[in-house]
Amino acid sequence: MSNALSVLVVGAGVAGIAAATALDRRGFSVDIVERRTQSPAGAGLFLPGNAVRALTELGLGAVLDADAAPIRTQRLLDHRGRELADIDMAQLWQGVAQPVGITHDRLRSALVDNLGLTIQAGVTVRELTESESGVEVSFSDGSSGHYDVVVGADGVHSELRRIVNPDAGVRYAGQICWRFVTANTAGIDNWTVWLGRGTTFLAVPVGKDRLYCYADLSTPEPAAVGAQLAQHFSHFDDQVRGLLAAPEAAGAYVSVIEEATDPTWRTRRVVLIGDAAHASSPTMAQGVAMSVEDALVLAESLCGSGEIEQRLERYRQRRLPRTQWVQARARRRDSTRSLAPAIRNTVLRLAAPRIYARDYGLLRAQP
Ligand SMILES: Cc1cc2nc3c(=O)[nH]c(=O)nc-3n(C[C@H](O)[C@H](O)[C@H](O)COP(=O)(O)OP(=O)(O)OC[C@H]3O[C@@H](n4cnc5c(N)ncnc54)[C@H](O)[C@@H]3O)c2cc1C
Repeated sequence: MSNALSVLVVGAGVAGIAAATALDRRGFSVDIVERRTQSPAGAGLFLPGNAVRALTELGLGAVLDADAAPIRTQRLLDHRGRELADIDMAQLWQGVAQPVGITHDRLRSALVDNLGLTIQAGVTVRELTESESGVEVSFSDGSSGHYDVVVGADGVHSELRRIVNPDAGVRYAGQICWRFVTANTAGIDNWTVWLGRGTTFLAVPVGKDRLYCYADLSTPEPAAVGAQLAQHFSHFDDQVRGLLAAPEAAGAYVSVIEEATDPTWRTRRVVLIGDAAHASSPTMAQGVAMSVEDALVLAESLCGSGEIEQRLERYRQRRLPRTQWVQARARRRDSTRSLAPAIRNTVLRLAAPRIYARDYGLLRAQP
């Protein structure tokens, strides 16, 4: 079979745009629909070396060089700002790529500019019927189409996942978080995290004097927390309290952290990628990396030989171990949040570089 398969990508987040780009480049006939008409107010992203490598392969290297902030160190502090460890990024990602921080908006606009296709915005899938000959899709705007493959890139609350496995849901990962971007008046020049008891505050430069701030809180009951961000961090370092006094903190974007772990991922012709397939707690900061790697591997797999179902299975087999590793490491890291801070701090002072090398070592290899 030639590459001239027709593919529908549902969802134009990072995963969907990356997939549409990679498939279009390989000669597939691609449509991409997005139910929103405007992209959501994004915050920031930390992109480890493997994310930068995958985005560079997609064609975004120059944008990352120009508009993202290079991250040379991951600095771990206790809640009072006392140093626990510094992780050297050049060493951790040697031979892969320099990690960066970037705003979500800038990454998305660069992905859209890099995509040679128009995203059909304000459109979603109304009905989808699979048969031997392909997938019949009717859309919310009244149009319809016939596709060889449908890619579900519709995020953690994926509707396509219900088609793939009606029993697959998402699991609350135990944290609620707040995100905002503010001026970097504090001059923070590296990824810096302050670790409290069940609370984390992270600041990441994201280019042009902007700072991405992420705060989270472990709680069994997210609904009971309320949005009183600053009060949860009132005992933290001055620098954290200063950042939480920024006007943007009042409008912080609040999210409940969830993960998707069902490994089914596909039917004969519908396949999931990105958060729809394997959303994880963000503790490993691997969401973009896994999504763009999925996109590249899916495009490569679909170019291979055999029935479409076999090609989709090859994609799944290749991606499952890596994404499950990320989820397992994220879960393990999250479980240390319940440790007494004195124990956790001692472990980090003694072993943080080794823990980082172990957690990320496997991800240095090509996907
Ligand atoms: C708090 C938090 C912090 C994070 N921090 C980082 C980080 O620092 N670094 C990192 O690499 N990753 C991070 N991530 C993860 C990362 O943002 C995602 O993994 C990545 O953006 C890929 O998302 P996606 O494209 O799969 O899904 P989404 O971004 O959710 O995109 C899905 C798209 O599909 C659309 N859609 C949904 N349903 C339909 C439908 N039925 N029809 C049409 N369109 C539809 C949505 O509107 C949306 O545009 C973080 C995640 C969270 C929650």
